Amino acid sequence: MSINHLLNETHDPKLTSWVESANQSGCDFPIQNLPFAVFKKIGTNEEFRGGVAIGEQILDLAAAKNSGVFNGVALEALAACSKNELNTFMDMGKSVWSALRLALSKALASGSSAQDKLANCLVAQADAEYALPCNIGDYTDFYTSIHHATSVGKKFRPDNPLLPNYKWVPIGYHGRSSSIEISGSDFKRPKGQTKAPTATEPSFGPCKRLDYELEIGIFIGNGNALGEPITIDNAEDHVFGICIFNDWSARDIQGWEYQPLGPFLSKNFASTISPWIVTTEALAPYKAQWTREETDPQPMPYLESTQNRTSGSFDINLQVLLETEKMRGAEQGPTPLSQSNFKDSYWTVAQMVAHHTVNGCNLRSGDMFGSGTQSGPNPEEAGSMLELSNAGSEPVSLPNGEERTFLEDGDNVIMTGWCEKEGAARIGFGLVEAKILPAE
Ligand code: CA
Repeated sequence: MSINHLLNETHDPKLTSWVESANQSGCDFPIQNLPFAVFKKIGTNEEFRGGVAIGEQILDLAAAKNSGVFNGVALEALAACSKNELNTFMDMGKSVWSALRLALSKALASGSSAQDKLANCLVAQADAEYALPCNIGDYTDFYTSIHHATSVGKKFRPDNPLLPNYKWVPIGYHGRSSSIEISGSDFKRPKGQTKAPTATEPSFGPCKRLDYELEIGIFIGNGNALGEPITIDNAEDHVFGICIFNDWSARDIQGWEYQPLGPFLSKNFASTISPWIVTTEALAPYKAQWTREETDPQPMPYLESTQNRTSGSFDINLQVLLETEKMRGAEQGPTPLSQSNFKDSYWTVAQMVAHHTVNGCNLRSGDMFGSGTQSGPNPEEAGSMLELSNAGSEPVSLPNGEERTFLEDGDNVIMTGWCEKEGAARIGFGLVEAKILPAE
């Protein structure tokens, strides 16, 4: 079995749009992508509302609703997308998401008779600001990269890096959604309790080991009732889409506070997401086989299915870049730090959903999962400074002569994601960035 049954006319790599910028090679938002965000024009009193990216433009979904172009289910979906959060639309479920995608694909395609009416519904991305795409009621952070778990485990527990539950349980913890913000939300370096290994007592002050985590954010579309688990084969039907996610981490605070209940104040001072949610349907060409080493424990039945084996992985390239204050001053542009791919994850999105609900826990529309830091099998594919600098012992050299062990004030961290392969249109996620301001 291949992924072909997941594909439809909206994925056709030959499709082009009458929005010319969508047809440029290397563009993140060709007509095959159609990701969702919540936006308004910068500096106006307009209401935030839903939008779909097409090339360098945004199709204003509230305006599209009133354009006279759409009817039926697509029109109902557009009414839901006209609000300042997408929860209602996300709760409508896969058949509605798919109906709107098809209608938008047809209306934005080259030669569409809707061009004249919809041309008035475009807003340039350069003129837009974004809000969170939905109310994120609950946020759960997983730990799905075995490469990250092993290298971090070595730093905290050299003799026992990978705990015995790792290969059986998709490990996660309940995070806080209140501190998740949209790309561009700069934040102050957190303060807290830390304790150096050699010190007899902890001290209080600004975090000295501030780090990023290269993750994806997974948005739940329609949830489940309390007490009714989502089975693995239905799991992806509940996943609206994916964004790029920086789960900032205060390593020195984490090292002191994490036992026995896990991360707390080291994680909930800031988390930043990219504005665009790339839908699960748009990602269909980039579904990939998922395997488990024969020598490893195989998943328990509730985490196992043929579908998960044949197409449970997502082939998403992830990259992190750093722009220091000095680089900004010299207008040098950011420098890449590392690159990895979500297909190297030990657990799939479907396994995360099935595991999260197997005890009856209810997910709700707009809930977000973090994938956990995505580090690849090679050291240069590390998704955090903790790994790249070997816990601060091996500074990373930057092209302008600067060095970093952890992040410094003024550093702007930028993350991007994209999918590309033969026979499919390249699609991208845009970017997420935020700058570290000095502690007060
Ligand atoms: Ca994390």
